[in-house]
Amino acid sequence: MRSWPAPDPHDLPGAGRLPGRGLPVRLHDTATGALAAAGPAAPGRAALYVCGITPYDATHLGHANTYVAFDLLGRAWRDAGHDVTYVQNVTDVDDPLLERATATGVDWRELAAEQVQLFRDDMTALSVVPPQEYLGVVEAVDLVAAAVRDLLDAGAAYRVPGTGGGPDGDVYFPVAADPAFGQVSGLHAAAMRALSAERGGDPDRPGKRDPLDPLLWRVARPGEPSWDAAGLGAGRPGWHVECTAIALQHLGMPVDVQGGGSDLVFPHHEMGASHAQVLRPHAGPFARLYAHSGMVALDGEKMSKSRGNLVLVSRLRAAGEDPAAVRLAIVSQHWREDWEWTGALLADSRERLARWRAAVARPAGPDGAAVLARVRERLAEDLDAPGAVRAVDAWADAALAGAGQDPDAGDLVRRTVTALLGVAV
Ligand code: ZN
Repeated sequence: MRSWPAPDPHDLPGAGRLPGRGLPVRLHDTATGALAAAGPAAPGRAALYVCGITPYDATHLGHANTYVAFDLLGRAWRDAGHDVTYVQNVTDVDDPLLERATATGVDWRELAAEQVQLFRDDMTALSVVPPQEYLGVVEAVDLVAAAVRDLLDAGAAYRVPGTGGGPDGDVYFPVAADPAFGQVSGLHAAAMRALSAERGGDPDRPGKRDPLDPLLWRVARPGEPSWDAAGLGAGRPGWHVECTAIALQHLGMPVDVQGGGSDLVFPHHEMGASHAQVLRPHAGPFARLYAHSGMVALDGEKMSKSRGNLVLVSRLRAAGEDPAAVRLAIVSQHWREDWEWTGALLADSRERLARWRAAVARPAGPDGAAVLARVRERLAEDLDAPGAVRAVDAWADAALAGAGQDPDAGDLVRRTVTALLGVAV
């Protein structure tokens, strides 16, 4: 699947576009609960997999927070001299998408195509560097089916009889097959079971060996899209194995960072990791580090499709909002914390952006190299973009007050903010 246009290379770090080099990045690892090195120790290839959208409602601020967070990581990695390989999927066939298509009388393919295009436009506007591989499940069905067959051949998958008039033969993954199961979330069985029921699992389905066992292949039902897969029969892939198959094919194992929103820790990332670890038992853990972005709330409630309280990036764009102000509002919050979107936050960001633009346009200011160093230092420490924003604020206030004699400061701060924070000033 086509991704979206990359920002101008001059607006990205790497290849000497900023003086010196960025620092090694440390991130909070969900699996250990501690900060750890993210990416290779020396300049080299850094592999990032971030779970993509289910395209039935366009990009809301919660999505934007996730993709901007991992964009900050990609930029910090490039600045540190790494060659970033980034892969993202699109869950373009899944229950919620099919349900929405049926409810609105739209063909599910049309709904997905339209929403994916909106997502591309939003990512472009927010200056998010696109993944090299952007893959829909529909185009990866053969890959996913092969992974499910491999699991069956390895004895790490089983078929379940039909219930409630449904067909026999849905394929499930026994979580007991992975000795490391539970390592990503660190949750107890009761909490896992509750989350499974809440987030697309079917813990109460009869015939499963363990209530937590996730679906790998759903046998075709009348009126649902399906694909004929040798050895599996007509059907469609389960959610978690889709990401596993795509990541193993396009990044190999282990990936440096598996990223996503914190609502993906369990079951999605736990199951995806287990699938991979059973498929490649000698390749180590699926990911070296699991990183999860916080949830964005509106009026005190988590922004979600099911609650219907979405602030859409496309609507802000349509209302004439400068996407740089939207991105600045996002990076002024810590990516890993839950935070709240408000009109006041956006107004503050507009004002801050105007101040920064006025400051970099001045003929001289305080030392720009110190700002670059401080921004690098803050980003290397768990992507502390709010700390980086404070450093630029302090510099801008001083420059606007007429302090400093450095004639190159404005240009260097402009390049720093544009390349490392992704905010066009
Ligand atoms: Zn995923």
